[in-house]
Amino acid sequence: MRKTLIAGNWKMNLNRAQAIALATDLKGEFSTEKKVDLAICPPFVYLDAVSTVLNGTSISLGAQDMYFEKEGAFTGEISGAMLGDMGCHHVILGHSERRHILGETDPVINKKVHAALALGLKPILCVGELLEEREAGKTQAVVRRQMEGSLKDVSAAQMEEIVIAYEPVWAIGTGKVATSQQAQSVHADLRMMIEACYNPAVAGKVRIQYGGSVKPSNAGELLSLPDVDGALVGGASLKAEDFLGIVAAAPAT
Ligand code: PEP
Repeated sequence: MRKTLIAGNWKMNLNRAQAIALATDLKGEFSTEKKVDLAICPPFVYLDAVSTVLNGTSISLGAQDMYFEKEGAFTGEISGAMLGDMGCHHVILGHSERRHILGETDPVINKKVHAALALGLKPILCVGELLEEREAGKTQAVVRRQMEGSLKDVSAAQMEEIVIAYEPVWAIGTGKVATSQQAQSVHADLRMMIEACYNPAVAGKVRIQYGGSVKPSNAGELLSLPDVDGALVGGASLKAEDFLGIVAAAPAT
């Protein structure tokens, strides 16, 4: 049985005091009895402060990106070891904003996936199509290319450590959410791709999150789909009430 994973991507939002306050509110309200796993991914500069707040709780800390090199002359970059040092367990890789605004490619994301795995960090690997790609009937081809490129040379044992986030780009931050049919269809395709590349056992274990304008009012329906194992949440993760409303809407797993 795959346990639902709800992860909050705070992106480039909040100041230090707000980040601490949000993490404190989540810590106060989220009980370890909850039926879901919870992770939050603050900006790099607040990881340390948020890590201190989350210490001793079951809420996992994640980062929004990392660089693939171990250390050295890479001005502005953050290594996986640094994230581990901050108490991170997860790292979002290949988010569409990094792919489309910052020009990140599948080969670069693949290097990051390997670097994260080597350090024991669990990648949340994002894939998803642009609106014009969906309208041209290319959704399956696009996510297949992203999966194959980003997961090159990943072993079956490593694959079990990875979370996939299907995030249609046209649904991110737009208020437009994929229909249940659209989400389930791509999630099922992704699981079949994992099965074809690895085996049914691995495909049965990998969690596939949906991301794109998830909020408390639509989370229940999305999270009850057979191949949707959680949500990667942007805007609605910035308010404890909304984020916890998504957690509350998740069916028991
Ligand atoms: C995201 O950025 O991963 C995301 C899904 O954002 P939003 O929930 O705001 O659409």
